[in-house]
Formats: sequence, C-alpha cells, structure tokens
Amino acid sequence: SAAVLVQSYEPLTVNSRRRKIEDYCRDLVINNDHISRMEQRLRESIEKGLDKKTHDMASVKCFPTYVRELPSGHECGKFLALDLGGTNFRVVLIEIGENEKFEMDNEVYAISQDLMNGSGDDLFDHIASCLANFAKARKIDKEVLPLGFTFSFPCKQKGLAVGELISWTKGFSCKGVEGEDVVTLLKNAINKRGDIHVDVAAILNDTTGCLMSCAWKNHNCRIGLIIGTGTNACYLEDLEKVGLWDGDINNPKHVIVNTEWGAFGDHGELDFIVTKWDHRVDEGSINPGKQIFEKMISGMYMGEVVRQVLVDLVDEDLIFAKQPLENLRTRGRFYTKYVSEIESDQVGDYTQCREALKDLGMTNVTDEDCSALRHVCECVSRRAGFMVSAGITALLKKMDYKDVVVAIDGSVFRFHPHFENIMRSRIRQLMGTEYKFDLMLSTDGSGRGAALVAAVLMGECAI
Ligand code: BGC
Ligand code: MG
Repeated sequence: SAAVLVQSYEPLTVNSRRRKIEDYCRDLVINNDHISRMEQRLRESIEKGLDKKTHDMASVKCFPTYVRELPSGHECGKFLALDLGGTNFRVVLIEIGENEKFEMDNEVYAISQDLMNGSGDDLFDHIASCLANFAKARKIDKEVLPLGFTFSFPCKQKGLAVGELISWTKGFSCKGVEGEDVVTLLKNAINKRGDIHVDVAAILNDTTGCLMSCAWKNHNCRIGLIIGTGTNACYLEDLEKVGLWDGDINNPKHVIVNTEWGAFGDHGELDFIVTKWDHRVDEGSINPGKQIFEKMISGMYMGEVVRQVLVDLVDEDLIFAKQPLENLRTRGRFYTKYVSEIESDQVGDYTQCREALKDLGMTNVTDEDCSALRHVCECVSRRAGFMVSAGITALLKKMDYKDVVVAIDGSVFRFHPHFENIMRSRIRQLMGTEYKFDLMLSTDGSGRGAALVAAVLMGECAI
C-alpha cells in the first residue's frame, strides 16, 4: 500500500539538510592531487603493459593492433564493416572515393540479453545471419568484399586479422569465446551458411576505428578515445617503445596501441578514490573486480553509481520524502541518460530533472530534492570527466608530438552537456598552457574506421 512507500524527513532545516548531502558526497570529489597521482600510476601501468617482461602482471594491457599506417585521405573502394560491442550490433556498407566521398548504408540489429549471455556459437551464427540478410537485401551477396570487424572488447592480436578475446566486458558473457580467435569464429559461422563470401581483412577495436576515422581528415590525430557504454583509449606509439612488438620494424616505425585502460584499477591502483558506492556497483556487475576504471566512468555504470548514492541519501532521510521509491531501489533503473538530461537544465530550472523523476514514478518533487539530485549527478559525472582527463594527460605526456588531436566518440561524450568542457579545462590545466592539443568528435569510427583499416591495406587509389 502507499503507506509503506511514504517516508518523512526528520526535522532538519533545508540548509542543514543540504550541508549533510554535500558532506555525504565528499568522497566523490577528487582533487588535483588525486588526479596527478592517478595520471602517474596510469603511465606506470601503461609502461608495464608495453614491456614483455611485465605485461602478464599489468592491469593495462596495451595490445599492439598491427594498424601501423594512418589514412592519407586518398583511399577508395567498397567495404563491409561489422560493429559489435556497444548498445547495438550493426552491419555497414561503405564506399570511399574521390573528393572525400564517403557513403554509408547501415542496418542496426538488436542483440538480445539471451544472445549476450548465451553461447558463442549462437552469437556468431546470429552475426553471420544478419550479414547475409544485409548483403542479399543490397544485392552484394555475390561479391567478395573486404570486411573490417569492429569488435570492441579486449583482444590480444597476433596480426591484423587475428584477435584472441581476453575477457568479455560491458555485460557480455558468451561461452566458448574467451581465449579464441574471434575472426576464426566469425569465418566459421559465415562458411557454415555457404550463402555469402567475405574477405575478413581486419579486426579492430572501436578506439582504433575512432582514431582512423578522424585521422582520415586530420593528420595530427594520434589518440582515439571512447566514452560510451564502456571506456578505452588507443594511441600511436613508436615501435621502439613497444617491447611487446615482435613483428618487423621497418617503416612505418609506429603502431596503434590499444591500451584497454578500462581495466586500470583492477590491481588496486584506484583504491585511494574508490567509494563504497563503486564497490556496490562492481559487486552487482557481471564481472566483479574487473574494469574498475571503466565502472567509475562509462555509460553502463554512471547512472548506477548515482543510484547507489541516492539510495543511501533516502535511507538517511535526506531526499525524496513521501515519494514512491520502488524504481529507485531497482538495480540498473537509474539510466545514465538521466544524468545528461538532469545536467542539461539551466541552473535553477528543473524541467528535465522532473521529467527523469517522472520516468521513475516520482511526481511533485520539491526544488530542494531536484537540486540535491543534480548535485549528486554533477559529483559523479565530474569525477568521470576528471578521470578521463587524467588518462588523456598520461598519453599526451608519453608521446613525442606536441600538437595532438584526440578523436572522441561515445554516448557519454556526445550527450553529457558539460563533459567536453570539463575535459578541455582539466587537460589544459594538467598539460600547461604552452602545450597544444584539441578534442574532436569522431563520427562513426566503428563503421568508417573499419573500412579505412581495410582500405589502407589496399594502398592509395590511382585517381
Ligand atoms: C572494452 C574496450 C572498448 C571499450 C569502449 C571496453 O569495455 O574492453 O575494448 O574499446 O569498452 O567500447
Ligand atoms: Mg560503438
């Protein structure tokens, strides 16, 4: 009955209640000292990952991708791309031609919870079937097109088209895939059907696609960053600094390194800022103890961190008196998109905030509650922004270049109203004013970037 849901405040004044809430959230506030420590530790972890002797013990694996050439802008041809690892699965057809022509046609296919947590065979059969349907609908099923497979999970690559899945992240857990070469699994599923033929030219991470897609137009682009469902970054590294590299060392003398920084903190490196709320988010996840950095930053978890804080504030009688709390008490029910919406309101206006609360079944919420909710969202999203900034600073400081463009994609970066500003000002502060860098939104790296990796292989077109 309604009476069970009703709660009332202890008799505190508005001001003292607000002070208590701010005190409560203080653990989410990270200062300059925390940020530099984090940045330094991440740099050490990256060094460990790159070094053959320490790689196995490193949390940040830094896998060389075998992508060594950035696009010149003179690529051409017709390509297929598969994009698996965000919210959706996509098949993409891309045509690159003269005068910066870049045409795309794509189809989104749902990946059900059952597929995400079922058998690897079912997953790859589904992917192959979507690909076949797509190819038939476009009447390209009789052609053999080069295909780039954007597979956004940690993979140990042994070549441009060989990638062994180390561990699933972001809620996936299909059996029989970890430790296997996912390109082989894909090819087997396609060959089993026998109705289409493709040439799998490359497997790549979404960060690599993001970097390639941006580098096609901007030659200072050296870092690819995703802040979406998960988070990760890749960067262009000199071969001589990649101890893990055992391929040839002829030109080009660099390679894109997939850092897999989402796993930073898995060896306790972030314990000095991890809160009880982060612990709870981690414990309730499908991969406890793993991807600690990612769980403090990315879209799959940010709303859940906020929710954990709110539940405690409710239990302390500091927020949402007399409101139905069933949804708020449900794991995963406070979506990260609410954080972006709530922070999109002008200061003092709570239009979107009230919409989000309505979605959670709460109506007639006071301005005081809205303001408190916004405060919690800001604490969590600013912390995420600072952590990503520490990460980018670690990479910039590692690189020899002095004028670097960072290509960025992902739902958190795209839709959070202040994330970009937070990052710009924080990186500026950490790097000093003389250093030049820029952040650039990279559009559809997972499709375009995959095509470009395949295209670069084939060399420039004679135009
Ligand atoms: C994966 C990365 C990926 C990132 C962004 C992480 O969970 O491990 O490979 O780049 O998410 O999609
Ligand atoms: Mg994606």
